[in-house]
Amino acid sequence: MTAHESHADWNLVGHTWAVRALTRNIAADRVAHAYLFTGPHAIGKTTLARALAQTLECTGAHHPCGECPSCQKIARDKHPDVQIIEGVPVGYKLDEKSPPPPPRANDWERRILKIDQIRAIQHDVARAPFEGRWKIIILRRFEEANEEAANAFLKTLEEPPRHTRLILTARDASLLLPTIASRCQVFALRPLAPTDIETALVACWQVDKENARLLAHLSSGRLGWAVRAATNPSILEKRRAGLDILDEILREGRAERIAHADILVKKSDELPEMLELWLGWWRDVLLAHTHRNEDARLTNIDRLALLQNHVERFSVEQIAGALKSVRATARYLSQNVNARLAMEVLLLNLPS
Ligand SMILES: [Zn+2]
Repeated sequence: MTAHESHADWNLVGHTWAVRALTRNIAADRVAHAYLFTGPHAIGKTTLARALAQTLECTGAHHPCGECPSCQKIARDKHPDVQIIEGVPVGYKLDEKSPPPPPRANDWERRILKIDQIRAIQHDVARAPFEGRWKIIILRRFEEANEEAANAFLKTLEEPPRHTRLILTARDASLLLPTIASRCQVFALRPLAPTDIETALVACWQVDKENARLLAHLSSGRLGWAVRAATNPSILEKRRAGLDILDEILREGRAERIAHADILVKKSDELPEMLELWLGWWRDVLLAHTHRNEDARLTNIDRLALLQNHVERFSVEQIAGALKSVRATARYLSQNVNARLAMEVLLLNLPS
């Protein structure tokens, strides 16, 4: 890769179309006041936001150079004019003396973006940039903003100070107030091709080829997830355990399943991730059932024997039903319904 190319793609893997469009915005001096980057967890929204901030603040010859003090400070989240804000754990008390909240336990941990955080931003953006050209605020997972915070933020979006640029991220634009999404220039990031993830893992993260291929398939096009799984073996172990639990449940009778639901809800903060895993599993079972000999499109390529077993045991109707039940349960849990009841219903609805 030549130095010139590395600037053209902002040193990112994938999302080339977004980088090109943003580069055109900047070249034409038409940088939007607010951007919204959407897409699944760990697909690269914050990475793109940081790269945009570097491009806007860079003092090197080609933006982003990656080497000037601005680029380096932003890469380390230490630039005084570039802030990354995200929600705090439920029940976390926000005041000046409180320590910073702990890092997220996993992608699915639910947090709240509070009005006090928005007020702090409003206070900050009212002042001129300290050393950069812009004040840039990156608000991660804006879907976690409660109503009060979102409404307060609307004021800043409607009349942002001239030197301010806002970059929001969210899983989906529809999870935000329409008045907020409509005031942002939206970039919906799409999953990367497995081959691009595989190549990047080998070239940039020194993952061996076989492992890279597996992680690329399991990642559903989310490079951030693949990189994390490459460096943290417990992620794959947890995934294997989650599929073993599902297989176990499918062999159980009614009473055993009810008891099993009780055990699972004891670790309720792990349920959303497990349901996402099961969703991907049933999608694979359906795909393997209807498109035989198309392993290349499957996600769970490390569990082909179990997959084949489920393909043979269940009918298309049963598989589609399971897919629907898991999806519905994931939605119920995100709406704070009684988790135990929701999981009991799900486990009893799974085929046997
Ligand atoms: Zn730079």
